[in-house]
Amino acid sequence: MPRKKSQPNVTAMSQADAAKTQSAGTGLPETTHTGVNAKNTKTVLVSAVLEVTGQVRFGDGTDVGLTVTETDMVLRPSDGAQVHKFIFAGSKRRGVDRRTIHELRDQHWKGAPCYVPRLCGECPICWLYGFTGTTQGKNINAKSRVLYATSVSVEEVQVGRNTHSRNQVDEKTQMTAGAAGIHEEEIIVAGVHFPTYTALVHVLDWEIGAFAHAFLENENSNRYTAASRAQGGMKFAKHDGQPLVVVDESAQGIFPLAAPKIPGWETDWKAAGKVFRDAMDLDCLKAALEAQGFSVTTNTNSTTEEANGEASQEAQGNETGSKEGNAVQSNQLILRHQDGVITVKQEDHILMTRYTGAKALGYLRQKQLEAKQKMLSLSTENFRQEIQGYINAITKPAPTSEAGGPGEQKAGEDTGDGGDE
Ligand SMILES: [Zn+2]
Repeated sequence: MPRKKSQPNVTAMSQADAAKTQSAGTGLPETTHTGVNAKNTKTVLVSAVLEVTGQVRFGDGTDVGLTVTETDMVLRPSDGAQVHKFIFAGSKRRGVDRRTIHELRDQHWKGAPCYVPRLCGECPICWLYGFTGTTQGKNINAKSRVLYATSVSVEEVQVGRNTHSRNQVDEKTQMTAGAAGIHEEEIIVAGVHFPTYTALVHVLDWEIGAFAHAFLENENSNRYTAASRAQGGMKFAKHDGQPLVVVDESAQGIFPLAAPKIPGWETDWKAAGKVFRDAMDLDCLKAALEAQGFSVTTNTNSTTEEANGEASQEAQGNETGSKEGNAVQSNQLILRHQDGVITVKQEDHILMTRYTGAKALGYLRQKQLEAKQKMLSLSTENFRQEIQGYINAITKPAPTSEAGGPGEQKAGEDTGDGGDE
C-alpha cells in the first residue's frame, strides 16, 4: 500500500476533493469515517435503568473524615416537597465511558496519544466525544455528539445510604488505621435504581457501537463508581426477565414515541419501572399517540399493513399533498410490534424504530462489534486525511463575517468535552 503524501499535499488534495463531495446542506466536505458531516447518520436515544448490585459511590467530595456521594434535592410537583436523591452525574458516566472507548481505540490507532484531559483533536473519538481546540493549539472545537443526561436515583437518600469505615489493616499486628487513618465513606446500597439517558446525535453505526461498547462493558465490569478497584456493581434492572432498556433509532431524528423518562421526584420503584414497561407495550404506545390526536393502526405480525380507512376523512395538515396525488395523511401512523422491535411508520416511511428489553441489548451488542471492526480496519492516515480536509474547509476564512470561523466560540460555551470526570 503506497504511503500517503505529506501534509501540504493532503491539504491541497482535500480542498480539491471538497468541491466534489460537498454535502448540500453545509457546503462542507462530506465525511465517511466520522459522522460529523456524513450522509446517512442516525439519531439514537438509549434509555436504561441501572440497579446497584454491590456498593457504589458517585463523586469524590469529602467532608471532615468522610467521603461523600453526590446527592441533590428535587421538587415533587404535587405538594412542592423536597425529595433528597442520589445523583449519578452525566459528566461522570461520560468520563468513565470515554476512557473505555480510548482503550478500544488504542489497540489499533497509530496517532498521537490522546487521553482525558489531553485530547488530540484528530482521532475518531475526539470527533465523536468532542474536544476544545485551545488545548491542542488548534483554532477549532468539536462538539460532542454523545450527550449524557445526569441520572437521579429513584430511591431516596434516607433509605439508600450507608456509611462504612475504610481502614487499612496491618497484616502483622492486625492493627487498623493505616497512613490515611480511619476514614469513613458513604456508599449507595444494592437495590437503588438509576435511570440513565443518552442521546447520540448524527452518528454512524460504528459510533453508536463505540458508546455501546463502553456502556455494556462498564456495566459488566463494575466500573460505574468512584473507587471501582474496591467496590461497585451495577446491572440492568429487569422486569419479568426483560432488561429495562429501550433504544430508539431514527434517521431523521423524529421520535413520535417519547423516551421513557422517570420523573426525578418519583420514589416508588413500581411506578418508576412502569414508565419503562409502558414504553415497551404496544397498547400503551397506541393510546399515547391517540391522545395526541393520531389515528393509529397496529400490527403485530410481519404482513403488510393496510391503511386505516376510518380516519381518512379527518386528515389534516395535508395541504401540500404528495407528487403522485396520494395525499399523505399527517395524523395517521402505523405501529408495528414484532419480537421486541416496534416501528412507527407513516405510509411506507419508517419514522423510528424502538428496540426493547433483550432486543435493545442485542442492538447495542451488535453495534459494539461493528465499532470493533471499524477500529480494526480504520487506517490512521486515511482518517487524518479526511478530517484534515474537513478542518481546512471549516477554518477557511468565510466570505461573510457571520459564518463560523475560528475563535468564535464564546467562553463557557459547552463543547461537551470539558466536563469529563
Ligand atoms: Zn483524540
